[in-house]
Amino acid sequence: MTRAPIETRSSYSDGNAAIGEPMTQVYEHGGGVRSIQVPIPDNPLGHTLVYVVDTDRGPVLIDTGWDDPASWDTLADGLAGCGTSPTEIHGVVITHHHPDHHGLSGKVRDASGAWIAMHEADGAIVRRTRETRPERWFAYMTAKLMAAGAPEDHIAPLRTVRRRTLPGFAPALPDREIVPGELLDLAGRRLRAIWTPGHTPGHVCLHLEEEHPAQLPGHGRLFSGDHLLPKITPHIGLYEDPDDATVTDPLGDYLDSLERIGRLAPAEVLPAHQYVFTDAAARVEELLTHHEERLTDLRSLLAEPLTPWQLAERMEWNRPWAQIPYGSRNIAVSEAEAHLRRLVKLGRAEAVAGSDPVTYVAV
Ligand SMILES: [Zn+2]
Ligand SMILES: [Zn+2]
Repeated sequence: MTRAPIETRSSYSDGNAAIGEPMTQVYEHGGGVRSIQVPIPDNPLGHTLVYVVDTDRGPVLIDTGWDDPASWDTLADGLAGCGTSPTEIHGVVITHHHPDHHGLSGKVRDASGAWIAMHEADGAIVRRTRETRPERWFAYMTAKLMAAGAPEDHIAPLRTVRRRTLPGFAPALPDREIVPGELLDLAGRRLRAIWTPGHTPGHVCLHLEEEHPAQLPGHGRLFSGDHLLPKITPHIGLYEDPDDATVTDPLGDYLDSLERIGRLAPAEVLPAHQYVFTDAAARVEELLTHHEERLTDLRSLLAEPLTPWQLAERMEWNRPWAQIPYGSRNIAVSEAEAHLRRLVKLGRAEAVAGSDPVTYVAV
């Protein structure tokens, strides 16, 4: 279901927006919930939906958007359209640490003194991002890609970039922890945290346990972040951590988290991208089927032993491998590895003993 904006405001209250001035889209979802489309520059996703939830102590944001001057202006305009401003924000609830969700959180806190809440597992990634020197990260990526069987011409640029000085990247440290299963401390609202690891280890959905304002059938409304989107399958790769060698199973985590959300049966899903939709259970079913089919396809590719890189080259992407840009290939290989881990865990594939770089074969 696509919902048309019922309020369209510009930055100029007299309505005389300059020609070509981008209009800020504010959507009214009823029951003290609105959303603002905050643009993500140069990204096909287009925008992040930042939700504004009224509480008795002031508005609370769910996600904040990409850290960019135009995105900040859009957020501020949108808040003005909601009758508030960045200085009045009481708190910020972050679904996960990605920059299109957490990017502007620091600026919102600077403007208002708002708290920022995040799940501990993603909070740990924020801390690590702030502390890890870029050289450490590129050394980790180099070793990881070599182990995955990436060709030398793909790895070589990482060795060069290691010698360059990169600008510091410092996402805001959260000051509150989102505890799975618990209600957030929001005056006058019932918003419960549902831990949904997979897209990131600390991704959370937020379940607004209040009757749907239009009495749609189901249980409340779900702010789903990137976990459940109407038309996109979120990226499931490895939880890349230079300091942790634990063999995780992000795809297994994601599929478990999907089932958990399906059982909640919310009346409406308010995702962080695209548009609001109903029938969460049907969408969950679609995604579970999609991943099951993908695992089956990958297993048939493993009739011959393949490295994760070779598997990524043979997998189906939205364009031929030769046209996939450099950075996206790293993401693709991470996704191939997440699927391999799942197949190994299910006993449907195994590592070939003595292979280096390691290859996997169907069993
Ligand atoms: Zn994300
Ligand atoms: Zn996102």
